Amino acid sequence: MDGGRVDEPRWAIAVHGGAGTMNPDGAKERLRAYEDAMAAALALGTGMLRDGAAALDVCEAVVRSLEDNPLFNAGKGAVFNENGEHELDASIMDGATMRCGAVAGVRTVKHPVTLARKVMTDTRHVLLAGEGAEQFAAVAGVDRVQNTYFDTPGRRRALQRLLRQRERTGAAAPVDRRFDYGTVGCVVLDHAGHLAAATSTGGMTAKKWGRVGDTPILGAGNYADGYAAISCTGTGEEFIRHSIARSVTARMQYGGQTLAQAAGAVVHDVLASGDGGLIAVDRDGNIATPFNTTGMYRASANWRGEREVAIFQD
Ligand code: ASP
Repeated sequence: MDGGRVDEPRWAIAVHGGAGTMNPDGAKERLRAYEDAMAAALALGTGMLRDGAAALDVCEAVVRSLEDNPLFNAGKGAVFNENGEHELDASIMDGATMRCGAVAGVRTVKHPVTLARKVMTDTRHVLLAGEGAEQFAAVAGVDRVQNTYFDTPGRRRALQRLLRQRERTGAAAPVDRRFDYGTVGCVVLDHAGHLAAATSTGGMTAKKWGRVGDTPILGAGNYADGYAAISCTGTGEEFIRHSIARSVTARMQYGGQTLAQAAGAVVHDVLASGDGGLIAVDRDGNIATPFNTTGMYRASANWRGEREVAIFQD
């Protein structure tokens, strides 16, 4: 069993809380709070896996817990768009069956990942957006909130700073990943050998109304098949342009690359420095968490006893 513990079936999990320009010399308590939140999300998922939970259930539960945590740009704590409102995106995918669901631009759904799962299970469709997704939320019976529920003072300050910066430098100024990080995601290999991925985000600070990022685009910001499960974070437009999440498994499927090679190549050779990163697990329980930003909040563990909670490069 590759040196694994013989008494335990194979499993693996990775969690992220966004990639961006974090300052390693920043307030230690703040960095610690992110590490603690990542460790708690990992503990939730690991506990479920040890109890035999299915990959999809673990992904949804872990992402929901992070949607409730105001530190992250997903659910409560989501970034503001240009109009000072929140539009949330999420998706979930089952690698064992290729079933998937996603929602884009939802405004009143407390846990967008759960609505994404209901798109997968309760409709013939893969992606519902905007007003239609809201109508579906009403019939699907998920928790609803006022849009202001997602507000946090820190995200409002980030909007104001970014709008001021834009006034000075013009709207075409390069994307500044100091303002956006905090997207959340989870990828899992369960005891049954099934892979799943889920990702949830508020998008990017001061985004235009109606802007949809990579998170609800299966194959771009989130993906799972029989080879691997991937959840991405970063400048969504670049992840869509290069079909980043599916590229990882395509390199494994058609090019015979290992998970580490495939994930490393898309992040370091295809994307540009500063674009973001991803977390991935493969069908053998290997884990990869490459990123090309200063940091990426992340945590991972597998049945072999490997465990990591980290923000910056080693
Ligand atoms: N990828 C997300 C988006 O573009 C943002 C992020 O991961 O920080 O919507």
